[in-house]
Amino acid sequence: MKIMKFGGTSVGKPERMHQVKDLITRDSEKKIVVLSALSGTTNALVSIGEALAEGKKDLAKERIDTLHKHYLAFFPELLKTEAARKKGEKIIQEHFEFLNILLKISFNEAINRDILAQGELLSTKLFYTLLQELDIKAVFLPALDFMSIDENNEPELKKISEKLKSILANYPQDRIFVTQGYICKNHRNEVDNLKRGGSDYSASLIGAAVNSEVVEIWTDIDGMHNNDPRVVDKTRPIAQLSFDEAAELAYFGAKILHPASIWPAQHANIPVKLLNTMEPNAPGTTITSKEQGTGVKALAAKDGITAIKIKSTRMLLAYGFLRKVFEVFEKYKTSIDMITTSEVAVSVTIDDLTHMKQIVKELEAFGTVEVDKNQTIISVVGNMIAESKGTLANIMDCLRDYPIRMVSYGGSRHNVSLLVEAKYKNDALRSLNEGLFSW
Ligand code: ASP
Ligand code: MG
Repeated sequence: MKIMKFGGTSVGKPERMHQVKDLITRDSEKKIVVLSALSGTTNALVSIGEALAEGKKDLAKERIDTLHKHYLAFFPELLKTEAARKKGEKIIQEHFEFLNILLKISFNEAINRDILAQGELLSTKLFYTLLQELDIKAVFLPALDFMSIDENNEPELKKISEKLKSILANYPQDRIFVTQGYICKNHRNEVDNLKRGGSDYSASLIGAAVNSEVVEIWTDIDGMHNNDPRVVDKTRPIAQLSFDEAAELAYFGAKILHPASIWPAQHANIPVKLLNTMEPNAPGTTITSKEQGTGVKALAAKDGITAIKIKSTRMLLAYGFLRKVFEVFEKYKTSIDMITTSEVAVSVTIDDLTHMKQIVKELEAFGTVEVDKNQTIISVVGNMIAESKGTLANIMDCLRDYPIRMVSYGGSRHNVSLLVEAKYKNDALRSLNEGLFSW
């Protein structure tokens, strides 16, 4: 069994959906196909929810109509026979009627999550109709029948596995299963989701749940690159990464893979492959538990970072001080990315500013607090970075022209993180690219 997940751009145009159909029928292996919503759809659904939350029903209606038009233009391109087109039309009608009904009832968060789920429901149903039209035997597998999260929004892997296995047992002869990424049920049995970009996470969870041979993540780029291709001219795909290296890269900014999607595959020791729909024979990136090679493999950058410094001559040396500081962040469910300490101060970074005000207020009980917004974390990722001679010196040399606000080194063997003001990011990435990768 293998898992093949296709992202928004891979299903975003009728011809792309046809390519997906070609890719899943290239071999006769048993597979679960996980689809995202068509590109742009989830953003549109978010904006419909926002308009409703603000009580702007006319605006919400306008946005629903625009999206509706998009689908009405999409399906006749996708489906050719009269019978299939009828089905496609009906699917679209059903989901847009649903959205229009929501306009009439009072809005709440549960309704918002129902709105967000429409994208994946539409994409999978339309794709399944295409398979039916072409007489490709497949089973439609609603994610809401098996994908679930608990009261802390954590996926219930054991339950998911039990449910999915028992559903699959009903179809011993079938080779192709089609399901939705992103969407799930929560502990109140309401429709929920795995957060933006969560289809990768779905794929990895499904892989772990059925113990698949591989989880393939199909996108529109040929694997994880050694630097940000939007910033640096010459980047190249990395053939092999360990789970730990991939997790650092995904977390610290490589957009190709949702960071949470590493752990289920790692836990079940299932290789993850990042592949390109447009270049299906390119090797892409393979992520496994194997640690290969030493030294720097890739760079990533994460924007929108805020640094918070707590300075306290009185308390820093006292045991329990860091605990108190961390408890404040824990209380507001805000995770910390980087930490550095000195005798008199501790600096941390966060990217979620939802509770910033309260956090700063509570930290002020311990000392003076300074906040620097608009920072970027640059992460240098590889294997045994600390052990490879001269690497840190090289990194610092590349960055000699830029003020570095924080450095985190030695936390793992895979990562050196540096915090710079956002305005230095692009130049710093280019300079590191030249200095660290020679070709
Ligand atoms: N459609 C969802 C999103 O755009 C999930 C995903 O594509 O991974 O965030
Ligand atoms: Mg994605």
